[in-house]
Amino acid sequence: MKCPTCNGDCILPPDKVLADIFGKYMACSACPPDPGYNKSVPISEKFNGLSGKCPKCGKRHLDFVIGNVLTILKEKGLFPRDAALKDVGTPLIAFGFKVPYPPRLGIKSLVLIMDSVTQDIANEIMIQVPEVRGVIKRVGRQSQSIGILDTTSSPHTYELLAGCDMRCDVVSSLLGEICVYKNQSKIHIEFNNTKIAKMEELFFKGEIENATVVDGMCGPGTLGMLCILAGARKVVFNDAWLPALENTILNLKINSSLLGIKINFEKMDHHELIGDEPVLLASAKGNAQVMVYHGDIRKLEMAVRDCDICLIDTFPAMDPSRFMAACKDISKKTIII
Ligand SMILES: [Zn+2]
Ligand SMILES: [Zn+2]
Repeated sequence: MKCPTCNGDCILPPDKVLADIFGKYMACSACPPDPGYNKSVPISEKFNGLSGKCPKCGKRHLDFVIGNVLTILKEKGLFPRDAALKDVGTPLIAFGFKVPYPPRLGIKSLVLIMDSVTQDIANEIMIQVPEVRGVIKRVGRQSQSIGILDTTSSPHTYELLAGCDMRCDVVSSLLGEICVYKNQSKIHIEFNNTKIAKMEELFFKGEIENATVVDGMCGPGTLGMLCILAGARKVVFNDAWLPALENTILNLKINSSLLGIKINFEKMDHHELIGDEPVLLASAKGNAQVMVYHGDIRKLEMAVRDCDICLIDTFPAMDPSRFMAACKDISKKTIII
């Protein structure tokens, strides 16, 4: 499957991702050792595209890649000479999972989120630092979530300045593994593993098997897909933010053999960014019946009723209680994840 953002090879099938993931960022026998830089202290060393490069596998330790970016920022005068590695920004590896060692990076394997960067410098980073897949400029505070808080708020997105922002989180659970692709300038950055543990707990309590489940604020579709793996009879994905659902549909397609489903309907002519009354964007059949709705959860009862469970996964800054009444109309039980 071609990447919908850059038409490149950012999207790999899960069997390939899962087969390679444990060795993907590992040092080879010839890789230089961990340079041991203190990321918080000023660093005077200059880095270029060859700094720290392994003569055998061609990969570089994350610190050399970030150092390469830092040198560009200093040479262009955007950063002071005493800037440290950690000042560069938030590095997200292209296929995210809990890497138990400092990652060694190959070509186009890092999406960088930066507070201070210009369009010109982003272009320069893409030219000079081959490991970078995309440069995203953070807008607003780090704590401010990407997307929409509710259908009356205006969307908050980061700005993709150069390259591609598509990356994947490998979600590993007792229910199975899935690959969750995200356009990282438009989708909330997730570091929270407690949600997966909560889903496992629900499964072991017998709440999900054969149930009809609504993933009420589904984002890129992680919780709903875990419900399919857990044996739910029917899963309804809903979100008010169209970019999230575009990722959900992509994820249902790319994980279809793991999930045992097949897309049988997809609406192609829908471009409203923020949903209101529910619009069916896609459906799938197989191990579970799957529906994907774009809309305000407070109006979802117009299309969906009598479900067993409604899962609510809101942004950290949002009070979920305001959606509880809406969930009562569509399902017997509401669970805040
Ligand atoms: Zn791409
Ligand atoms: Zn190597």
